Amino acid sequence: MTSGPWPRRQWLGVIEEYRDLLELPAGLEAVTLREGGTPLVHSEWLTGLTGGQVWLKVEANNPTGSFKDRGMTAAISVARHEGAQAVVCASTGNTSASMAAYAAKAGLKPLVLIPEGKIAAGKMAQAVVHGAQIIMVRGNFDHCLDLARGLARDYPVALVNSVNPVRLQGQKTASFEIVDFLGDAPDYHLLPVGNAGNIAAYWLGYQQYAELGRASRKPVMRGFQAEGAAPLVTGEPFPDPETKATAIRVGNPASWHLAEMAAKESEGRFAAVSDAQILAAQVELARRDGVFVEPASAAGVAGMLAELAAGQSYAGKTVVITVTGHGLKDTATALESFGDIVDNVVDADVEAAAAAAGLA
Ligand SMILES: *Cc1c(COP(=O)(O)O)cnc(C)c1O
Repeated sequence: MTSGPWPRRQWLGVIEEYRDLLELPAGLEAVTLREGGTPLVHSEWLTGLTGGQVWLKVEANNPTGSFKDRGMTAAISVARHEGAQAVVCASTGNTSASMAAYAAKAGLKPLVLIPEGKIAAGKMAQAVVHGAQIIMVRGNFDHCLDLARGLARDYPVALVNSVNPVRLQGQKTASFEIVDFLGDAPDYHLLPVGNAGNIAAYWLGYQQYAELGRASRKPVMRGFQAEGAAPLVTGEPFPDPETKATAIRVGNPASWHLAEMAAKESEGRFAAVSDAQILAAQVELARRDGVFVEPASAAGVAGMLAELAAGQSYAGKTVVITVTGHGLKDTATALESFGDIVDNVVDADVEAAAAAAGLA
């Protein structure tokens, strides 16, 4: 028999765990699927490459498989609190998957605006099965977001994209968890950047913990975008963003200003990585660390590898890289480079299997 406290305490979700630190309406009743509390997985691979200590914040371990759930518990809780009947979002996939799940839990009607033909099948399946109404827009993500804003302005439907500041209140809890686990803030924090809500939220969280004295420092924030959708790198919107990393296929980030502030105040920066670098990092991360992420989620790791190749150093530093969403959401892109999935076909015979496996 194992000893210890029984019943064991379960993680309560980000609102109940951190309520005192979040700007939310007093007495807000949380709509939660017990999001957050995600693992920091130590990467022996990247630790070995850098000579630092590299941790992966694995956000796939949220209820719908991406970090979006942290903000969505807050946004949907507030929408219900304020009497909304319906909620709307523009989405490259994960926001709609998350919104649909939390709307279902709250008894609200979810309305999803997606760009034409660009959503990973797993994410679509989530939105559909959770009962969202799906409206495909002839345009890209940025057009969808404009439309969602217009609907929320003119009709009785609450907008839950990260332009809703409540989303960032939920998402900043990821920083709290990191500091709570490591005992202090890391030296560097690397992450993928699309619409730029997440980097803004992390920075909010790190600043707040530093002000409270729970962390002695704040990390340098480094955001990585896909080359085909890198407005924060070039300083210009991308009218026609293009990348296989669909979750960061955003040409005109809604949190542009906040993201620039985060980079500036932390003495960080933005850089771009190619789709080839992103997809290679996705596979290497899966094979070396056992962590399968969707393409966009590998942008931070791809960025670190590119920096190391360019001679930059993380030696002696503590680094956290957020890997934002689960690999199972987009298996089609993950398998594109693999050709034949099956290596051998044999009869049900030990000798034959051993020969095929190179054991005999
Ligand atoms: C939303 C998302 C991003 C980008 O986050 P932003 O807050 O839009 O910058 C990156 N990866 C995944 C998996 C996402 O779902």
